Amino acid sequence: INDRRESLYIVSGFASKFFQQQMFETDEGKSIGLSYFKERGFRDDIIKKFELGYSPDVWDSLTTAATSEGYNIQFLEETGLTIRKDNDKFYDRFRGRVMFPIHSFTGRVIGFGGRTLKTDKAVPKYVNSPESDIYHKSNVLYGLSFAKKAIRDLDNCYLVEGYADVLSVHQAGIENVVASSGTSLTVDQIRLIKRFTENVTILYDGDDAGIKASLRGLDMILEEGLNVKVVLFPDGDDPDSYVQKFGSAAFKTHIEQSKKDFILFKTGVLLKDAGKDPIKRAGIIREVVESIAKIPDGIKASVFVRECSSLLQIEERVLISELNKIRAAKN
Ligand code: ATP
Ligand code: MN
Ligand code: MN
Ligand code: MN
Repeated sequence: INDRRESLYIVSGFASKFFQQQMFETDEGKSIGLSYFKERGFRDDIIKKFELGYSPDVWDSLTTAATSEGYNIQFLEETGLTIRKDNDKFYDRFRGRVMFPIHSFTGRVIGFGGRTLKTDKAVPKYVNSPESDIYHKSNVLYGLSFAKKAIRDLDNCYLVEGYADVLSVHQAGIENVVASSGTSLTVDQIRLIKRFTENVTILYDGDDAGIKASLRGLDMILEEGLNVKVVLFPDGDDPDSYVQKFGSAAFKTHIEQSKKDFILFKTGVLLKDAGKDPIKRAGIIREVVESIAKIPDGIKASVFVRECSSLLQIEERVLISELNKIRAAKN
């Protein structure tokens, strides 16, 4: 056991309890924090289960509470909960925000996301804990400790973008859901999923300008041998807003009707982007074939060759010969 890391876990757990207590037991917390979650449609059982909380809108409420309880300021700083200023002054990182504790997959609090309640565009919507010895963003998936059993039982994992998406989808009775929380997906996160299932369904926000950019990064999911499907939500909706508006049956129907295999989805997005430009279209062919080359299973790969050849309106043998070139270059 590493004592220093253990101290970081303990102080994070204290902070989570503190933010919950502030939300449920203070006037400010109830009227601002709790009522915010209620207005967003979150039920009490979900608010409790995910240990949501509220950080008061003052400079140092957590820091003061923790140090007066005997917690070492060094550990508060190392988790990023407290920020040091001018060498001897301290203030809280999270102030006046609703708090989402982030748990390790075994269920211990390792960090936080805090959402502002202001609509002012100059204020960042979410503030997250910085990296620490117990919180490495790149190998954490938000919600995994609550989702892992369902992921294994249902043999599928829904991957969404944000905290609120995880909560609302979970609340709707669909518990096999986790979020990458702002970062683009990493190999470590994929390997984490792979411990529980080989099937991933990525649910993209409808507002997303970043889809095209994220597609290239997703090739690594193929390399890991996972089966990846992609669902796009209607413009302006994300999984949270959609399931809150239309309910879980409509949510599932939407997924079943619009899910596309990753490579076909990617081909479609790239084609739409290229329009009629022949040079761009040639570039797409190369890019798509490169994705297919990453699929370890040859039989699966040949199915994609067939489907992509009809989407791209190009003969299969052309794709196959490109594929062979890439494979030969790799060996
Ligand atoms: P909400 O529904 O509360 O408005 P959201 O989850 O739909 O939030 P998005 O804008 O879709 O918000 O962003 C998805 C995720 O990206 C967020 O849940 C959060 O984890 C992360 N994120 C968004 N904005 C920021 C930011 N300014 N800084 C850091 N992370 C952010
Ligand atoms: Mn988004
Ligand atoms: Mn969103
Ligand atoms: Mn949202």
